[in-house]
Amino acid sequence: MRALTALLMGAAAIPSMGADTTPLDPALDYHSYANVDQFRATQVGLDLQVDLESKVITGVAELQFKRLDPAATQLVLDTRDLTINDVSQRATDVLGATSKSEPIWVSRPFHLEKPDPILGSALVIDLPPSRKTVEAIRIDYETQPNASALQWLTPKQTAGRHHAFLYTHAEPIGTRSWIPLQDTPQVRATYKALVHTESHVLAVMSAGNDPKAKRNGEYSFEMPQPIPSYLIALAVGDLEFKETGPRTGVYAEKPVIKAAAKEFADTESMMETAEKLFGPYRWARYDILVMPPSFPMGGMENPRLSFITPTVMAGDKSLVSVIAHELAHSWSGNLVTNATWRDAWLNEGFTVYLESRITAAVYGEQRASMEAVLGLDGLRADFARLKPADQALAIDLRDRDPDLAFSLVPYEKGRLFLVYLDAKFGRERFDAFLRGYFDHFAFKSITTEQFNQYLEENLLNRFPGIVTRDQVLAWEHAPGLPADAVLPVSTAFVTVDQARSDWLAGRRQLRNLGADWATQQWVHFLDDMPPALGAARMSELDQAFGFTKSQNAEIEHSWLMLAIRNDYRPSNARLEQYLESIGRRKLIVPLYQELMKTPAGALTAKRVFDKAKPGYHPTTVAAIEPIVNPSGEDDAQ
Ligand SMILES: [Zn+2]
Repeated sequence: MRALTALLMGAAAIPSMGADTTPLDPALDYHSYANVDQFRATQVGLDLQVDLESKVITGVAELQFKRLDPAATQLVLDTRDLTINDVSQRATDVLGATSKSEPIWVSRPFHLEKPDPILGSALVIDLPPSRKTVEAIRIDYETQPNASALQWLTPKQTAGRHHAFLYTHAEPIGTRSWIPLQDTPQVRATYKALVHTESHVLAVMSAGNDPKAKRNGEYSFEMPQPIPSYLIALAVGDLEFKETGPRTGVYAEKPVIKAAAKEFADTESMMETAEKLFGPYRWARYDILVMPPSFPMGGMENPRLSFITPTVMAGDKSLVSVIAHELAHSWSGNLVTNATWRDAWLNEGFTVYLESRITAAVYGEQRASMEAVLGLDGLRADFARLKPADQALAIDLRDRDPDLAFSLVPYEKGRLFLVYLDAKFGRERFDAFLRGYFDHFAFKSITTEQFNQYLEENLLNRFPGIVTRDQVLAWEHAPGLPADAVLPVSTAFVTVDQARSDWLAGRRQLRNLGADWATQQWVHFLDDMPPALGAARMSELDQAFGFTKSQNAEIEHSWLMLAIRNDYRPSNARLEQYLESIGRRKLIVPLYQELMKTPAGALTAKRVFDKAKPGYHPTTVAAIEPIVNPSGEDDAQ
């Protein structure tokens, strides 16, 4: 009884936080209640009414399952904060009839288990045992306004300021807060959806979108390829569309659409590059949806329609590697998917590696290597704060929220593992291996152990004596980096390091420095400043380069980190505005952490967080709340 075991583990073990000493079962998803050994969803049908006023989605989810166990009498699904009004089963399944007329639906007994703070509530549906291989269930339900995957924005919180906006962000385990289903990446299903909205807004999904869709308040979607639940995504707002190529385009609010299409004009050539390297793009169109600034991530690889933060629009395409990243997920992540969140490095490490290959091909090696060095800096900072067990690629996430446990390890250490294999076996062999890997596991979800078996058969054993199995296991399970890791270097940063130290030593003026620097060089210039610069030097920098007024979100982030450390008051207003207007966790979480290091900063952090909170996505609030209220004193709010 897998569902019940998981239920008990979830409920009982949470306070001990990772102290679980029972051996981990790599094939088991510890973040789902679903009894996937007995039933597996194959199709999801949605009929949803989106009410932007009352912030509720009401609807019906019709799930089709393959029954694996004829004796099973319970179907267990994942939910979180859902109100379940009714559950019914297709009567033809009950009676064994084969009538082709409209199916009859018969109500089935169901109940919700006590909610677990991380996993939500198991929805347990009683079913009669059956020899049929297919079963269909219909669930009539509604969401709560606090659903963890949904952000409801008021008109004022959007770029256009006239219409409300809704978007979902569900990875890793948030889909259960807006659709009752088997919320585990082990299960892949196709989906169809009918979405009803007010007639003046447009709905888009991670599915086939029609760029010419009429605005009439009724939108239908189909995702014909089987995808894991976390990739079902929806956005509703006052959106426009602009083409950037035959297979690519941008959706955005009107005030943003022109700039967005310009910034992301290279998407089509990124796609062509990726196809040359990794095999055909298998999802028909690739469009980008520019999100409101509150979007918690840099991007989310929702298939056929990546959701992208507007903070990568610097005006000069200097931050568009995020597009290369989300596009690369069309191979690593969406086509071949991690089977559990322990295996997230198979999604993210591969994707950062692919991203870097695409960036190198489209924008040159220099940009790719600068980004790799910045990534390594971030990884080292994470190693410094993480306990050894969490520095492994395949980490034990039992009893933890996989969203809050995410670090740069699966991304950057994962990338370095693939860079290592690339260097050891040579580009030609490694590229052939990658293409074979994507073909072999296309539309499948795999564990680290399945990857290892494929790696052994197709690379390690085919070219023996180059990398051993133990070396692979060290990458995946040991802390830190192996001594023979191949680390990135950037000659473009050597110039920057020289300029910085010359200025600090009084050998160089600021005014003749940085004229041709790229964004990444400015970020590196600021990130490696000594922590205590003093007011005079801060003001000298600000006057020379106008950092306080920078419109480049990454440069501004690095500057504000420095401003907090140095208590540089002229940037205070900008800091508050930045924290209130941006919800991207990577940019704002470190600023809150930095503020919390002094008593005065902590007061600012709490005050600004209280003001900004209503504009943040629930997952951003969940990430920042424990930082600004470490003892949980404001939990009651
Ligand atoms: Zn990613």
